[in-house]
Amino acid sequence: MRVDELNKVIYVRQSWLGDIGICPERARLGVVRPDFRTGSDATIIGTAIHTGIEAVLQGKTTDFADMLEVVANDYEALETSNYKKTNIIQEEIPQYLESMSLAFYNEILPVVSLGGKTEMPFKVPLNIDVDGYAVWLEGTMDYVDSENNIWDWKTAKRAYNMKSKQKSAIQPTVYTYAAHMLSEEISEPPTFNYGIMIRQLTPKSQIVPVIRTAEHWNWLKHQVRGAVSMALRTGVNNQWVTNDESALCSESWCSFWSICKGAYNCNNG
Ligand code: SF4
Repeated sequence: MRVDELNKVIYVRQSWLGDIGICPERARLGVVRPDFRTGSDATIIGTAIHTGIEAVLQGKTTDFADMLEVVANDYEALETSNYKKTNIIQEEIPQYLESMSLAFYNEILPVVSLGGKTEMPFKVPLNIDVDGYAVWLEGTMDYVDSENNIWDWKTAKRAYNMKSKQKSAIQPTVYTYAAHMLSEEISEPPTFNYGIMIRQLTPKSQIVPVIRTAEHWNWLKHQVRGAVSMALRTGVNNQWVTNDESALCSESWCSFWSICKGAYNCNNG
């Protein structure tokens, strides 16, 4: 969440809304302690795969070997940054990079319409007002293909549960709404697909389409109104509700562990 006091606009990203769902305090700390945000090995694997995919979609590579070289070089550069090691077997990472790149190249790429836009940023009004602030959505879509399908690339430990994504994933709602608002550039109806590369030694991919309608966008407005209203009334300098039941509440997966639950020396076994 980002507040533009001068123009009385609050900008919200889908990742912040996602954090609110996981743990409100995590979302607050993301606003007031961005310096604590660190990536993990899983994050830099994902970033390297994204870079390779982007190179393919922008026509900067001619074959799979080229893509893999881009991915490996990017991972090597990212490895020099400050990141956390999770439970991923480090020696297997080069094989993961190759199998996930293959999963994209052989299984997902053939169904993607080329000639679209990569890394498409957006800023659109949500057309709601909270305590005198207009609320806008902002973010970046991984790829909008030439047939106006929105794609988001994911690298994941396991396959997604399609039913659960259709029921409540917020990212497709935010992105299809944004595409609808930018309809001068993107014709309706916007469709959304997750293109998922599974982190394992043999290539495995999954495409998860998510359908969103105007009713979902109205629900999004209701959700965002509640989140922004809570943020404004409690204030970002006061602690918000914590949720340590999520699998992401751990030293490996929460950037704020050391200044939150990790400071309490709880027995986490
Ligand atoms: S450590 Fe747990 S409770 Fe604290 S912010 Fe992170 S996810 Fe929330």
